[in-house]
Amino acid sequence: MSRPAETLRRVREEVNRLHAELLRWGLVAWTSGNVSARVPDADLMVIKPSGLGYADLTPDTMVVTDLHGTVVEGEHAPSSDTASHAYVYRAMPHVNGIVHTHSPYATAWAARNEAVPCAITAMADEFGGEIPLGPFALIGGDEIGRGIVATLSGHRSPAVIMRGHGVFTIGADAQAAVKAAVMCEDVARTVHLARVHGPLQPLPEHHVDALYERYQNVYGQHDDPQGARP
Ligand SMILES: [Zn+2]
Repeated sequence: MSRPAETLRRVREEVNRLHAELLRWGLVAWTSGNVSARVPDADLMVIKPSGLGYADLTPDTMVVTDLHGTVVEGEHAPSSDTASHAYVYRAMPHVNGIVHTHSPYATAWAARNEAVPCAITAMADEFGGEIPLGPFALIGGDEIGRGIVATLSGHRSPAVIMRGHGVFTIGADAQAAVKAAVMCEDVARTVHLARVHGPLQPLPEHHVDALYERYQNVYGQHDDPQGARP
C-alpha cells in the first residue's frame, strides 16, 4: 500500500484529469460541474475548488476535505456541492467517485421533472432501466446528497437527474462516475430526439434485465484466466 501522501497526490491528479474529461465530452460550461473521489483508506475526499475555471484547475488546486465537507488541505474553498458529495460517501460505502453536471439534454429532462424512460438498449446496458428523477433540493447543504441517496439506493442506475437542476452520478471509482455522466447525456439526448417526433416505445422489462445482466457481467475485456468471452 502506498503512503498517505502519495495516495493523496495520486487522487488529486486523477480528479484534476477527470475534470478535463467533463469539458472534452461537452458536459459543462464555464465553472459548472464537479468531480470528487474518495481517498482510499482514509475518511477523506478530493473535490473541485469552488468558482475556478476549468483552464485554471491543477492537481494542487483540488481541495481535500473530510467526509463532512470540512477542508483538510487546500488553498481554495471547495465546491458548493461538497456537503452533498460528503453525505453520499458517508451513506454509500461502495461509492468512491461522484460527478455532477448540468449537461443539456439530461438537464432538459430534469427541467420537465421527468425520468428518462428506458427505450434503447444502451440505457438497459448502462443504467438497467430508466434514469430516475430525484427531488428538488437547494444547493449549499447536504440536501442534494440526501436526495441522491434516497433515489439511487436499491436502484441499478448510477445516475440520477435532480428536479430542475441536473445530473449526479456515482461510481466504484471516479472514472466510472465520469463514464456514467457521459452515457447519461448520450442516452438522454437520443431519447429526447426520439420523443420529439413521436411517442416512445420503452423496452420490455425482461429485455432490459437480460441486456443489463449481459453488459455488466459478460461484455468487454475480462481478466478471466479462462480467456475469451462471447
Ligand atoms: Zn449544479
